[in-house]
Amino acid sequence: MDNCIIEIKHLKKNYGSSLGIEDVSFKINKGEIYGFIGPNGSGKSTTIRTILGLINKTSGNVYIKGKEFNKDDIETKKVIGYLPSEINLYDDMTIKEMFDYHELFYGKHFNKRREELVKLLKIDESKKIEDLSLGNQKKVGIVLCLIHEPEILILDEPTSGLDPIMQNVLHEILLKEKEKGTTIIYSSHILNEVSSLCDRVGFIKEGIIIKEDLIDNIMKDSYTYLSISSKDIKQIKKDLGLKVIRESKDEATFINNIDSNTLIKKLAKYNIDRLLIQEISLEDLFINYYK
Ligand code: ADP
Ligand code: MG
Repeated sequence: MDNCIIEIKHLKKNYGSSLGIEDVSFKINKGEIYGFIGPNGSGKSTTIRTILGLINKTSGNVYIKGKEFNKDDIETKKVIGYLPSEINLYDDMTIKEMFDYHELFYGKHFNKRREELVKLLKIDESKKIEDLSLGNQKKVGIVLCLIHEPEILILDEPTSGLDPIMQNVLHEILLKEKEKGTTIIYSSHILNEVSSLCDRVGFIKEGIIIKEDLIDNIMKDSYTYLSISSKDIKQIKKDLGLKVIRESKDEATFINNIDSNTLIKKLAKYNIDRLLIQEISLEDLFINYYK
């Protein structure tokens, strides 16, 4: 892959005897937005924390900007902005003090960017961290990860705890980042949340990447659950050739991606007792039925 800015090779992390992640590999190009999708407990946060060296990996390699990343490499750390899923801030500071303290790490002030973000996210800098709701703490976290205009953003479930208006504000901020060419890893348990933003998605299940593709390829097929009761079910199964996920004597449920016209024509010749078509979310589809 040309222009690769982050490469993860066979990353594995055990927490003592229990597994965090089994085998995670991906490559991300400069300027790409990578949606990292998986249900709770699938290993998104473990992957991210291991990439950043916040927890020690069991094995595998992480390359950032062409060199193996080491958690003491301050220069590389400065080009990364990280938003953890659970924010842990110093309680007894005001937001203003927190931002000032954070700027010390970079050895400079980011007045213009700071003002811009504080305004967009409607933050009152005089408030104490300990008095903030979870959503407001998240907003502080968003400023902390964006303030230094990093080349790489790593966002772990960034909208959790944010109200819908602030979720939109964040997405608008990220769209601007995308225009600037920032590389983003965006983890979520919901594909729809990232589909309008990202270029590519990886699905993680039980610590393993089970599918990875361009978002356009993933979204172009529309899938439904299709349940049919019929005495002819055997023949119908053969005729449709779809993946069956449940079946009993005269009934079967399929994962369907046949377009409606073709499907109606195909089914017209059978005697059907009951037909049910239901939406299926893409994350359900990939996580439960494709391995
Ligand atoms: P996600 O972020 O996708 O919800 P996590 O990375 O938090 O998933 O968790 C992946 C797996 O690692 C889960 O089985 C979880 O129970 C386990 N795990 C996560 N953190 C710890 C920890 N500190 N100690 C032990 N097990 C952990
Ligand atoms: Mg997590």
